[in-house]
Amino acid sequence: MTHGSGDSRAGLTSGGNGSTPLILCEDLWKIYRVGDVEVRALQGVNLAIDRREFVAIMGTSGSGKSTLMNILGCLDQPTRGRYRLDGLDVATAKPDLLAELRNRRIGFVFQNFNLIPRTSALENAQLPLFYRGLPIREQRRQAAAALERVGLAGREQHYPTQLSGGQQQRVAIARALVGSPSILFADEPTGNLDTSSSREIMGILERLNCEDGITIILVTHESDIAAYASRELVMKDGQIVQDVQRMPHLSVTS
Ligand code: ADP
Ligand code: MG
Repeated sequence: MTHGSGDSRAGLTSGGNGSTPLILCEDLWKIYRVGDVEVRALQGVNLAIDRREFVAIMGTSGSGKSTLMNILGCLDQPTRGRYRLDGLDVATAKPDLLAELRNRRIGFVFQNFNLIPRTSALENAQLPLFYRGLPIREQRRQAAAALERVGLAGREQHYPTQLSGGQQQRVAIARALVGSPSILFADEPTGNLDTSSSREIMGILERLNCEDGITIILVTHESDIAAYASRELVMKDGQIVQDVQRMPHLSVTS
């Protein structure tokens, strides 16, 4: 197993400084206003995550997990507090720089797969490269390689409805991988899957972390899923109430 290939993508920027945490949150708040009601979804989150970590965020429904994840993934901004991603202050970064970051350095996987219907696995996986304006031939080549990486070689022309839930989630992971992200965010990726598909998906994430050095941040409310991570955060009422480091990479795949 070589770690060399992962080094080039370890930092988000070419000048990425290894001593700054990849993710650094200071006193993050997110307040939603719905009519007259104020919902404090995040209440002063402080968090540092290093490159190559595999972090599970746990907590009951409504505790703020998705809100935090969306901010960390630059899909949303905090109401107040500071978020630095590889040293970059996300609040003041130019929108096109953030869009570029999201396209090139960050991958997302969601509970509902979010695949485009009536569109082949290959075309779904190609999408981020299409937005990058890569030549179509190159889009197809890289998308096919990503599908192969998640064990879907031979399924390129299948539509989502012709694939099992676990296979659809693997297409979604392939789509997240085509851009060679340095961070992968997964919000309840096994929430709609049976036990054996869940194991397969977690095995893939574990491999991406161990072998390719991709930082993984995973939201789940199942402790056997969280057990794949080397660090576990527990959220309650918009705060991190527990932060436990496990022995690094005690593999739980059978
Ligand atoms: P989790 O992912 O842990 O279930 P969320 O981050 O989705 O929790 O939600 C945290 C709190 O913020 C909940 O009380 C939820 O109702 C509220 N919330 C989330 N998104 C919005 C929104 N767009 N508008 C208003 N309230 C929201
Ligand atoms: Mg959620």
